[in-house]
Amino acid sequence: MVKTARGGGTGTGHALVLGAGIGGLCAARVLSEVFDRVTILERDAFAGGGGGGGGGAARRGVPQGAHVHSLTVRGANVLEEFFPGFVDELAAEGATLVTALSEVSIVFFGSLLHRVPLGTVLQAGRPFLEDRLRAKVCAAPNVRVLDGREAIAPLATPDRTRVTGARVARPGAPDTAEDIGADLVVDAMGRAGRGAIWLRTLGYDKPVEQRMRVDVAYASRRYRLPPDALGPDRALLVGATPARPRGLVLTQQEHDLWVLSLYGFGSADHPPTTPDEFLSFARELAPFEVGETLRRAEPVTDVAAFAYPHALRRHFQRLRRLPDGLISTGDAICSLNPIYGAGMTVAALEAAALRDCLAAGTRDLPRRFYRSAAKALHLSWLFATLADRSMPQVPGTHPALAALLAKSFRATMAAAATDAKVATAVWNAVSLTGSPAGLAHPRIVAATLRHWPRTAADDN
Ligand SMILES: Cc1cc2nc3c(=O)[nH]c(=O)nc-3n(C[C@H](O)[C@H](O)[C@H](O)COP(=O)(O)OP(=O)(O)OC[C@H]3O[C@@H](n4cnc5c(N)ncnc54)[C@H](O)[C@@H]3O)c2cc1C
Repeated sequence: MVKTARGGGTGTGHALVLGAGIGGLCAARVLSEVFDRVTILERDAFAGGGGGGGGGAARRGVPQGAHVHSLTVRGANVLEEFFPGFVDELAAEGATLVTALSEVSIVFFGSLLHRVPLGTVLQAGRPFLEDRLRAKVCAAPNVRVLDGREAIAPLATPDRTRVTGARVARPGAPDTAEDIGADLVVDAMGRAGRGAIWLRTLGYDKPVEQRMRVDVAYASRRYRLPPDALGPDRALLVGATPARPRGLVLTQQEHDLWVLSLYGFGSADHPPTTPDEFLSFARELAPFEVGETLRRAEPVTDVAAFAYPHALRRHFQRLRRLPDGLISTGDAICSLNPIYGAGMTVAALEAAALRDCLAAGTRDLPRRFYRSAAKALHLSWLFATLADRSMPQVPGTHPALAALLAKSFRATMAAAATDAKVATAVWNAVSLTGSPAGLAHPRIVAATLRHWPRTAADDN
């Protein structure tokens, strides 16, 4: 009994979404179709009260917003499903639309992917994207944002079989605590895992946590550059290799703002944050002329740093007992190594899974949702962790397996440099428009084998 009119609700009561990041906003969007009222509670205070309108700098609760946030084609398609016309509207407001791979240089494992035109990519800064998304979600008459308030504890029935809301307070002011009742509480508070801790508080098991130590660090800076700063290209991506576990992404975002994000696996290769060293690190990875452009460019921010110790998956779908009325979504379920640029897409796919589950009502919703979300994110997790395992800096993988994975990625990318079909399969895997399993197609495997590294030197 899902209504199709935007913001209608169907008499299912009140949904309380905790966290106004991409995961929370996408969840609120689908809940607004089903619930009479949706409240999005956010710890950060938004300029203007939460309905959009800001969108420049990264905010405190989402410090990763200072770093490149690529939206995969699949992610953009899901947002477009939620808000028809969204991509064009963002472009009209200044976001950059580019044609992959004709206007995007991607160097994976040392090979430049063949420049075959494969589709449109939306490029914008995370604050810009989130701000526009929040404005869209809040345009529904039954959605409101309560900002500047944090969730501090769950509320539940005396027998604790149902979560009935959350205790909230202004940050650092416990005397302002108040209870907000809800028929469904959605934990979209990010990877810290407050929802999982709440389960324990309520007498349930915590979900099994799968951690993949990657020891990645980012450093990023925004610049003002003309659209032709990279010639015909609007983005350059140079991926890490086992021999040089450092990467670079330079993309045009909204208007004439560009972001340069550098990353490295392992402390010896973490990018520096002093401006001169930051630039030198970038120049070692970028083509000479791009380095020169950066040297002359006008920075508009300081260098921001972010440490990402491990990727994380919480297996809520394996729990045998769950209370009604509480689900976790977004990074709270799965946080992928950000170098694969898939976290926002996974959050959007989980929201789409929630929408499909809600179409069958709210009975046994948590269990049905976790199963469906696990399916939606599984391939992204598998692909990202396999790619991570090809890096010898990532502990816990047998060296022979790491070497085999590295050889096969290197060979596939070498084939993708000249073969449009292989480049398309790689693009489908990274943009999530197809399955990474497409890389196992006999045609792609044969091309990979033809490029298999022959000598140890070829491995680097
Ligand atoms: C360095 C870096 C780069 C990344 N690059 C990309 C990329 O290129 N592409 C991509 O798709 N993804 C990228 N990601 C991942 C992406 O940021 C997340 O996967 C995505 O935003 C989904 O996160 P979320 O909404 O679940 O959580 P978050 O974005 O962490 O949002 C959680 C929200 O909850 C709020 N909150 C926390 N606690 C409370 C509380 N107690 N009460 C109320 N509110 C609370 C926070 O303030 C915040 O607003 C990157 C991540 C990092 C770290």
